[in-house]
Amino acid sequence: LDKPNISIFEELESEVRSYCRSFPTVFTQAENYKLRDVAGKEYIDFFAGAGALNYGHNNPKMKEKLIDYMMNNGITHSLDMATSAKAEFLKKFNQVILKPRGLDYKIMFPGPTGTNSVESALKLARKVKGRETIMSFTNAFHGMSLGSLAVTGNKFKREGAGVPLQHSVFVPFDKYYGEEVDTVEVIAKILDDQSSGVSIPAAIILETVQGEGGINVARYEWLRRIAELCKSRDILLIVDDVQAGCGRTGTFFSFEKAGIVPDIVCLSKSIGGYGLPMAITLIRPYLDIWKPGEHNGTFRGNNMAFVAAAEALSYWENDELYNHVEKNGQTVRLFLDKLAEKYPNMKGQVRGRGLMQGIAFGVEGLADKVCRIAFERGLIMETAGADNEVAKIMPPLTIDHEGLVKGLNILADCVKACSK
Ligand code: PMP
Repeated sequence: LDKPNISIFEELESEVRSYCRSFPTVFTQAENYKLRDVAGKEYIDFFAGAGALNYGHNNPKMKEKLIDYMMNNGITHSLDMATSAKAEFLKKFNQVILKPRGLDYKIMFPGPTGTNSVESALKLARKVKGRETIMSFTNAFHGMSLGSLAVTGNKFKREGAGVPLQHSVFVPFDKYYGEEVDTVEVIAKILDDQSSGVSIPAAIILETVQGEGGINVARYEWLRRIAELCKSRDILLIVDDVQAGCGRTGTFFSFEKAGIVPDIVCLSKSIGGYGLPMAITLIRPYLDIWKPGEHNGTFRGNNMAFVAAAEALSYWENDELYNHVEKNGQTVRLFLDKLAEKYPNMKGQVRGRGLMQGIAFGVEGLADKVCRIAFERGLIMETAGADNEVAKIMPPLTIDHEGLVKGLNILADCVKACSK
């Protein structure tokens, strides 16, 4: 067989394809934080499937479980029939994640991807409250289906819909106008002042760290105040933890340190552990007003994903991974701070939490250029932000110190190359 060539994608795949334009090679193999292409070239992965590979490529523990499961003729597809794989996941999620945190949620399987989880959350909130509007934030990203796109604060993505989207209201995220402006006050005013024309929404949906929107970090205090604002006005709080969850910011849920308990939580990406499609929506039990079958889907219960997902939860039985992320997150932060300091003309602004970090460049097109050169030098990095101004550093959480430093050094070389 001929080795596959990138031209096949150009010839046959829709114009909508994106990542194969940024990384124009054909990848063939991967292990933990390393990818290999058809020419045998190795890359360090600071992209990690946009957060879908927190436990690394081909995680050996999950691989072993999956192979065993297949060798024993485990069931792959079952819609939502009860299976042993699903039972194991539910039990472990309750024991390892919910119970130790004192959290009480019903677990819903909304479909295979992040956008399915968001859709189910929006649908449920509107059904429970009998209100149409959902409030969302500037630069938010919640998915590409019509409901989740309606709450996505990105003009380019929204134009993909062609025509107006369902009713949503956008308000400024934390630090949108800098640290001095209290955006919780602004939101309260919009809600309380009838002249704003904004009625009380069914829910407010937010990411604690906006991933696609540019690694914009909400302060814990801000999150607490948003939660209070929701409570005082009978608004449901939905936290979209699709990208920031599953340990990306250190703790399993990104909102743990804020001490808030959202009404609904969306999880996907790394919940499937092995990069397998899976999503869950956590709903406070009193909200579970669904009638059987009111929200279903053919691929909402992939048992291979349950097998890997149950094994992935073992990482949260102790603090080892959490400590690893904290330590490596600090390494990244120190490194980026020094880099920004070294090249002041690039106006680099460092931000992030845990292993969800980024450097926003104040020079147009620079982040794109850095990521392009990085690819040539064997480092996979994505840009984020409304103007693609942020170079995003999101390696698998399982990356070791050596791999991390190697990747960061490549990044530093790329920034240096761009400074000339
Ligand atoms: N929410 C957030 C916060 C995301 O980052 C994403 C994906 N980037 C989604 C929802 C949508 O997930 P999916 O692409 O799996 O539909």
